[in-house]
Amino acid sequence: MEIEATTVEEIFGIEREALIFMLEVSRKSHPNEFAGILRAERGLIREVLVLPGTRSSGRSALLELHMLPIDRSACGTVHSHPSPDLQPSPEDLVLFAKFGRVHVIIAYPYDRSSWRAYDHRGREIPLKIVDAVKWG
Ligand SMILES: [Zn+2]
Repeated sequence: MEIEATTVEEIFGIEREALIFMLEVSRKSHPNEFAGILRAERGLIREVLVLPGTRSSGRSALLELHMLPIDRSACGTVHSHPSPDLQPSPEDLVLFAKFGRVHVIIAYPYDRSSWRAYDHRGREIPLKIVDAVKWG
């Protein structure tokens, strides 16, 4: 798996709409997992690229990340857990270490507090929720 992320700036936040979108997709995918790529601009996560053809096994949606086109704005991953468990699984940690700097996990019941962000080592990191930004 050749995945490269070339943006180097610190990821400090996520746009509110992107977060709401991820929670909605997670809810719709239940009881299966959903996985996707996070795209950031100037340190702010603004877009979620949903993984095509997510498996319906209810496990390891994240493993299909290799199917996604990875570009310069890709900064990490997002996936859902159909259980209330917000902790990265051992499998998740292996993938976090391979690619990206920020990884979001969304857990059942997919409400506004059902998510956490982690760095590539699986350590929880704070992400600020930011209202839609317009740049230049
Ligand atoms: Zn997971």
